[in-house]
Amino acid sequence: MAWASSFDAFFKNFKRESKIISEYDITLIMTYIEENKLQKAVSVIEKVLRDIEDAPLNIAVTGETGTGKSTFINALRGVGHEEKDAAPTGAIETTMKRTPYPHPKLPNVTIWDLPGIGSTTFTPQNYLTEMKFGEYDFFIIISATRFKENDAQLAKAIAQMGMNFYFVRTKIDSDLDNEQKFKPKSFNKEKLLKKIKDYCSNHLQESLYSEPLVFLVSNVDISKYDFPKLETKLLQDLPAHKRHVFSLSLQSLTEATINCKRDSLKQKVFLEAVKAGVLATIPLGGMISDILENLDETFNLYRSYFGLDDASLENVAKDLNMSVDDFKVHLRFPHLFSEHNDESLEDKLFKYIKHISSVTGGPVAAVTYYRMAYYLQNLFLDTAANDAIALLNSKALFEKKVGPYISEPPEYWEA
Ligand code: GDP
Repeated sequence: MAWASSFDAFFKNFKRESKIISEYDITLIMTYIEENKLQKAVSVIEKVLRDIEDAPLNIAVTGETGTGKSTFINALRGVGHEEKDAAPTGAIETTMKRTPYPHPKLPNVTIWDLPGIGSTTFTPQNYLTEMKFGEYDFFIIISATRFKENDAQLAKAIAQMGMNFYFVRTKIDSDLDNEQKFKPKSFNKEKLLKKIKDYCSNHLQESLYSEPLVFLVSNVDISKYDFPKLETKLLQDLPAHKRHVFSLSLQSLTEATINCKRDSLKQKVFLEAVKAGVLATIPLGGMISDILENLDETFNLYRSYFGLDDASLENVAKDLNMSVDDFKVHLRFPHLFSEHNDESLEDKLFKYIKHISSVTGGPVAAVTYYRMAYYLQNLFLDTAANDAIALLNSKALFEKKVGPYISEPPEYWEA
C-alpha cells in the first residue's frame, strides 16, 4: 500500500528528541498496513496514542538548601515565585520528606522536591529507597557552587539502579556578573563558562570514573546558557511515548522549544488522522456540528501550549509595559479564530473547507471528516507555533526598543 511508505516517511521528518513513537511501533504499523491488516494497524496506533496520552512524568530534583532548587522547580513549572502554588524560595529546609509540585497545565507531570542528601543521615542507597527512587523518570542534582562528594556518591547509586541523572549548576548569571564587575579587563564569558564547567566535572569525574553531564543554568532566564541543551538531552533520553508530555511542559521560550512542541503535536495529529482514515472515510456532511464543537477546544489547547492564552499574553505585556492589544495586531491567531469576529463559525468553517479542498485538489463534497480535522488541526497548530515565534522575536525587538516587528503571514493566509 502506497501509504505504508508515506507513514514511515512522515516520521523521518522528526529528530530523535521530538519523536513521540518508537521505531519498533513505526515498523509494526507499517508492516500491518502493507499486509492489509488494517484492524491490527489501528490497534497499534490506538495503543501508541493511549500511551502518549496517559504517560506520567515524574522528575526528581535534589540539592541542598540555598542552591536555587525551589527556583529551578518553579522555572520548570512556569510558576512565578509569588504565585500561590510556587515552591517556597529562600526557605530553610526543615522536612526530610519529598514534596510534589504538579505542573499547572499538565496534570500528568509532577516535579518532586527532594531534601538534599547532605541534610539527611542516609547513605545514598537508603536515601534513594526513602525517596522512592523507582517512581521517577530521572534525577536532577543541583548545586550553586561546586558539586560535593555526596553528590557524586548519590549519582553513582542512581546509576546502579539503572536510572539517569543530570547535574545542574545554577546561578551562572551571578558568576558572570561578578567576574565582569571585579575583573572587567580580563573578563571573557566563554572562558569563564568553560572554567566553571571543567571545575564541576573534574571533581565529579574523580568519583564517577566517567564524564558527568553538567549543565550551567540561570534560573532567572531559562532560555539562556545550557538550559535548552538540558531540555534536548532529557527529551533524547526519555522513552518515545513520554516525550510528548515533556515537550508540552517545557517553559523555556526559544524557537527550538516552540518547534519541538509543534513537531510533537504534528505527530499526534497525524496518528489520529491515520487512525480515523483507516477506520472510515465518512463524508463531511453531518459532521459539521461535531467539528465545530471540537474546534474551540483544540484551538484553546494549542494557544495554551504555545503561551498564547490570555493569562500568558497578559504576563508578556506586563513584562514589557505594553497592552495585550499592542501585541495582538502582530499575531495571526486572533484573526483565525476570534469570538468577537462578525463571521459565524459555520461561515468560517466553510471557508476552511474550501481552502482545504483547494490544497488537496478535490471537490468540497469529497473532503472527508478525518481530512478536515487533520488539515484544520495543522492549520491551527502552525498558526499558534508561528505566532509564538513571532511573539518571541517581537519581544526581543521590543526589549531592544527598536520598534515593532511585523511577522510575515503564513502562506496559507492568502487563501
Ligand atoms: P533552595 O533553598 O535551594 O530552594 O533555593 P531558592 O530557590 O530558595 O534560592 C535561594 C536564593 O537564590 C533565592 O534568593 C533565589 O532568588 C536565588 N536564586 C536561585 N536561583 C538563582 C539563579 O539562577 N540566579 C540568581 N542570580 N539567583 C538565584
